[in-house]
Amino acid sequence: MKKKVSVDFVDERLNAGLARAGLRFTPQRRQVYGTLLEKRDHPSAEEVFIRVKAQMPDISMATVYNTLDTLVKCGLVRQVNHERGATRYCSNMQEHHHFHCDVCGGVFDIEPDPRTGRWDIRLPKGFRMSHFEILFRGTCPDCSASNAAASPSAA
Ligand SMILES: [Zn+2]
Ligand SMILES: [Zn+2]
Repeated sequence: MKKKVSVDFVDERLNAGLARAGLRFTPQRRQVYGTLLEKRDHPSAEEVFIRVKAQMPDISMATVYNTLDTLVKCGLVRQVNHERGATRYCSNMQEHHHFHCDVCGGVFDIEPDPRTGRWDIRLPKGFRMSHFEILFRGTCPDCSASNAAASPSAA
């Protein structure tokens, strides 16, 4: 699903999140948040910096780091950590899990059953779940296709 992110939507979400944390709206926060909503491919801080800098040439890496931190604290963005590699950022705050592709290093959202909106997980009697995490690993569709077409040249 490719939806164009509307400006109003970004501002509304951002304003609400910042207000909850007692913070104010800044163009830098707007730019970083908009960038994360625009392309939901779980960029690292460095990748966010490169994208934001293209729109806002004066912004510094430190500002991007601080802004990402702020967005995480406001509950607008979450961090995705993997054993190797840099922390990545995800602007999808719906309950979901992450699939890590071993070939391209891509991170993909895996969402619950669209019919029920639920993860059918059964717990032993007496357990109550408030949160859970699953890590998926393997190859994404693009990499699976090129794997099948030719032997991978990646080391
Ligand atoms: Zn891949
Ligand atoms: Zn995600």
